[in-house]
Amino acid sequence: MSTKSQNEIELIGDAHISNSTETPLRADAFEKSDHDKIKSIQHHFSEIMKELGLDLTDDSLSGTPYRVAKMYVKELFYGLNPKNRPKISTFENKYKYQKIVVEQNITIDSSCEHHFLPIIGNAHVGYIPKKKVIGLSKINRLVDYYSHRPQVQERLCLQILEDLQQTLDTKDVIVIVNAKHLCVSSRGIKDKSSYTTTMEFGGEFIETELRNEFLRIIKERRNSFE
Ligand SMILES: [Zn+2]
Repeated sequence: MSTKSQNEIELIGDAHISNSTETPLRADAFEKSDHDKIKSIQHHFSEIMKELGLDLTDDSLSGTPYRVAKMYVKELFYGLNPKNRPKISTFENKYKYQKIVVEQNITIDSSCEHHFLPIIGNAHVGYIPKKKVIGLSKINRLVDYYSHRPQVQERLCLQILEDLQQTLDTKDVIVIVNAKHLCVSSRGIKDKSSYTTTMEFGGEFIETELRNEFLRIIKERRNSFE
């Protein structure tokens, strides 16, 4: 349980207070089976609905606690459990390709950890292969995995970057995430048009010229596919 009072939470507001790349997890996070978690969340969610005054004997509402519980554990937050990380095999860079590889417009379907509301957008990833390469769709799978956690966008960007750096055995990786936060568009300030961009990079992408090349590729290709 958080030790913060309601007042403190209101004061902090939507400020991003995360200070680690790791998603904050309890030590016993995966001791329960998915099945038991669904049962428990189903119970607690029905309590929330009852507190809101909803009649759970109504045909349309009676299945909602189970549906929400299953959706949390199996879909929206499947990426919390490390056993669900996609298996990524790397291949030797036999063709000695040494320039930039870009995978862009990767769908982001995430949830904000402050409001449990959707974060939707896309990610663009670039890397410069050293000894290892990976199947391109694996990048999409990795983005999907880290997105399916309660997230803050900055951390999501970093988690994708650090995993790819480790998997590809190179620091030369760049990740951009553009996303809309429903907690900004449908509550609070209710701004429908703004979106958030985060960018993290390492290795050779510290060079402005290479970073600009990546940004140029993204911009040009985006225009030609849309
Ligand atoms: Zn939020």
